[in-house]
Amino acid sequence: MSLRPIYGHQALQHRLAGVLASSRFPQAALLVGPPGVGKQRLALWIAQGLLCQAGPGAPCGECSSCRQALGLQHPDLHWFVPIQRPKAGDPDKQVEEARESLGAAMEERRRDPLWQRSEGMASHPLASVRLLHRLVSVTPFSGSRKVLVLGEAERLVVQESSPEAANALLKVLEEPPEDTTLILTAADPEALLPTIRSRLVSLRVPRVADEEVRRFLSTELDPPLKSSALERRTLLAEGSIGMALWMTGETEGPDRRAGELLAAVAGGAGDWASRALAQPTWSARGDFTALLDALAVRLRAGLEESAGDAEGRLEGRLEALRRVEEARAAAQGNVNPQLTLAVLASDLERLL
Ligand SMILES: [Zn+2]
Repeated sequence: MSLRPIYGHQALQHRLAGVLASSRFPQAALLVGPPGVGKQRLALWIAQGLLCQAGPGAPCGECSSCRQALGLQHPDLHWFVPIQRPKAGDPDKQVEEARESLGAAMEERRRDPLWQRSEGMASHPLASVRLLHRLVSVTPFSGSRKVLVLGEAERLVVQESSPEAANALLKVLEEPPEDTTLILTAADPEALLPTIRSRLVSLRVPRVADEEVRRFLSTELDPPLKSSALERRTLLAEGSIGMALWMTGETEGPDRRAGELLAAVAGGAGDWASRALAQPTWSARGDFTALLDALAVRLRAGLEESAGDAEGRLEGRLEALRRVEEARAAAQGNVNPQLTLAVLASDLERLL
């Protein structure tokens, strides 16, 4: 199977097409934007454009080079994704292991181009950087250029260890060979070493419209989501196709708890008071803020649906949303979650 189309980002693609057409795309670039927003997919699109046989500009999508790039089979397009640290002791064997892991990751993405988020422990180990260094110095196989894409650059281990590997990477970024383009992506550019960051031309990748997330979810998922689940997921994804795709119990859990809380609020003081008392204290502060975030998403969705309601009712809903946001801010400090939730629930009962 080939890579799925890009959803949203039309304006950015239009701008990039112009840059590609004038052959001014930087040799070392960094795509920055929220997790799952499509940075790596866009980087692959840029790579496809740089390698396209139809000449400079947006990729034609038809030539054999484009088809190879879309099938993740282009010999001059190298995509580095986080992998497990190699086990071999010998550095050369480590590089081979990294090459195999990357090959396996690509094989998996060819089978299922809707890839999952990389595992927590996966990284770009030193061996990956050494491999990248090697690939930079080989002559392109088929065309006149080669493109290296390195996703989730925050996971480069060179950052803290091995000055030797860091220097190798810096050297590549500083003076890439004429025929080489490097595109890194990162959600948090602050997590990159300043020396690495300063050698890259940054490009911001924004969130996409809800409409695009909805279109993605109703086109690419098998089986398709039912309408209410589709709407909920679209809202929770907040403009990130990846988040919409990766959403599991982790995101849906707080949403479910927010739903339960609202039901308790509707049930009156007895219900919400016992719900508030059941809120775990302190240690689960992350859960508490996730609950408040999910609550805000639900209230915002309710606001959109009730835009035509009487003004007084709308005011109440807006005020309820403000109270949730206040509680969210307070939750960052030293508050008691049970008490905060009880006060919030009593406000919500009055306002909703
Ligand atoms: Zn082409």
